Amino acid sequence: MKNCTLLKQLEISTTTHILDLIHKTSSKHHLSDLQTQQISQYYKQPPSINSFLELYSLSMLRCDCVKYQQIVDEINDQIHAFFQTQTPLIQKIMAQERKSQPEPEPMQIEDDEDQNNMNNPDDPIQQQQLQQEDPQQQQPSQQTNVPCSQQQQPANTQQTTQPSQSIEDEICIPNSVKLKYRRINNGPSEKEAKCDNCVCQGKPPSESDNLIQCLLCLNYLHFNCIAKSKESFDKCYKDLEFVCPPCVLKYMDHFNKIQSALVPPSPFQQMGQINHKAFNFACDKSIINIRCVRQENKTNCEEITWPDIGELFLNQKKIQDFKPLINNHSLKKRKDDHILTTEVLPQNCLQIKECIPTPDQRSQYRISLGHLYFLGVYSIEQFNSKQLLDNVFNNSENWMNIEQCQDFISLYLNKHQADDIKVDSLTVQLTCAITFNLMNTPVRGSFCQHIQCFGLENYITAMYSMQPRKWRCPLCKKKLFTIQVDAYQYAILNTIKKCDIQVNEITFDNNGQIVNENIQKLLCLDNLPNYAIKNNNRMINLEMLSNETNNIFYKLQIIKNKESVNPPVYSNTLQNVINNMMLSSNQHLRSNSYANFYANNYYINQMKIQQQARMEEQQKLQTNKSKIGQNHDSAIIIE
Ligand SMILES: [Zn+2]
Ligand SMILES: [Zn+2]
Ligand SMILES: [Zn+2]
Ligand SMILES: [Zn+2]
Repeated sequence: MKNCTLLKQLEISTTTHILDLIHKTSSKHHLSDLQTQQISQYYKQPPSINSFLELYSLSMLRCDCVKYQQIVDEINDQIHAFFQTQTPLIQKIMAQERKSQPEPEPMQIEDDEDQNNMNNPDDPIQQQQLQQEDPQQQQPSQQTNVPCSQQQQPANTQQTTQPSQSIEDEICIPNSVKLKYRRINNGPSEKEAKCDNCVCQGKPPSESDNLIQCLLCLNYLHFNCIAKSKESFDKCYKDLEFVCPPCVLKYMDHFNKIQSALVPPSPFQQMGQINHKAFNFACDKSIINIRCVRQENKTNCEEITWPDIGELFLNQKKIQDFKPLINNHSLKKRKDDHILTTEVLPQNCLQIKECIPTPDQRSQYRISLGHLYFLGVYSIEQFNSKQLLDNVFNNSENWMNIEQCQDFISLYLNKHQADDIKVDSLTVQLTCAITFNLMNTPVRGSFCQHIQCFGLENYITAMYSMQPRKWRCPLCKKKLFTIQVDAYQYAILNTIKKCDIQVNEITFDNNGQIVNENIQKLLCLDNLPNYAIKNNNRMINLEMLSNETNNIFYKLQIIKNKESVNPPVYSNTLQNVINNMMLSSNQHLRSNSYANFYANNYYINQMKIQQQARMEEQQKLQTNKSKIGQNHDSAIIIE
């Protein structure tokens, strides 16, 4: 592809130029070799570039050190200036990208994909849709689904397995899969920016509000409402998997499913010498569940945690005493659990007190004060193991569909390839890690980044008797907010059981296809619920693999419509977008997010405006010159 070549050409000259810039600027500021080397580390040569817009954003140095910020800013300005000198080449690349790229415009992804589907009679999704209208044909369509998507991919298969692939091919393949799950996020809408679901229940907005987005519910919260005040927004860890306290509380225990919040998640924190808060709530249920989390590190809460020392009262009656652990206690952390109580009235008052310890208590016990807590009271639906199992299995939202499962494997292998480890196949165990029998329902957590599953049945049985229950993935230990059933591995397990094939592991290729041809041929989707084959479920782990960085931080910018000259306002906006982009990109993985694309659209537009302004200025200058000349001439004539 010619476009890739031009882009590659620019990429190489950019790299050379940037390395040169770093050295020139460093020596201008009389930096030592070591310091220069440190600054060089802020420039990570991009691993693979798909477009000019990516090249531009990935070329900027990302500095995490205040000491070098000024010099890095200076270098970035010069990189920006360098790109401006490359305008003719960039315009050529951009023009070719517009023409040749199958990639849809950022804002129109869904529309374009729909159109593609319409044009492609072999598309498995469309077949599915067509045949769903005709219920009698549903069975055969399920069986052709997988082989059909395989037929679509022979070109890919050849390219990815050829050892002597060109750079262009390597760059262009994963994009179609990657783009499918990339979450376009251009910051909150006007309504979302009101933060109605924040723990403050939507306080009046102020100009200094910074927002943070929950990866699970996608709601925006005020950064200051969920972070300890001493944590500055700019210094907060940049690639956080942020889950808001309301979600953490909500998905705390799958055996006690939340029906509604009687007291919505509310913050409480020690102020001076007291931490005492009362909540009034009405209730028509016979049992309530009281949950409390403590903000442990930066912005995330994890497990149920009550104050180290304190008391909980319901309707003036003490229902819980919180006693701190003695200093030499063998437990690392006190085993806090949520509180179930049936002593509930139509009108209730719940009071929580965090006590101030005496100096004696302070020296003998582990007491940590001043934390930010979030407390919520809920009405719940209680499940036993069998009910929970059915509940997970029968909820269509928990299923990662076949296509998503295959894409997950592609994205996973693609990611590990980028780390310079050559991986073109992946083997997962089909047996349960606990019993070594074949799994029944293969699951993982919605935040898990691994293809390997664990068996839902054994996991639920083990969790049921655990007190307190810490719902975490047994493989990667990430919190298990929601459970994800892998439809593909479920189908494979069903097939090998039905056909009595003696295997306990399965290998997938780059495209997520089963390497064992026998199993691939026999693969049968008969026992799968319809929604497991095709659904529109949002898969957070696929999104995270596609986005490469979680853009969850936003500076709320209240842009005032002053009647001022256009250019300064424009460059301000550009600067803001780039700032946001820098803020949300992490220092190890370079951001490929759409925020960059928007930033760069501004950049291109700004270049055009500047060019136009320059031309107009020159024209003015020339007309002025000729006017002056005329006057001068006429003056001579008069003399
Ligand atoms: Zn430093
Ligand atoms: Zn708030
Ligand atoms: Zn949330
Ligand atoms: Zn996991």
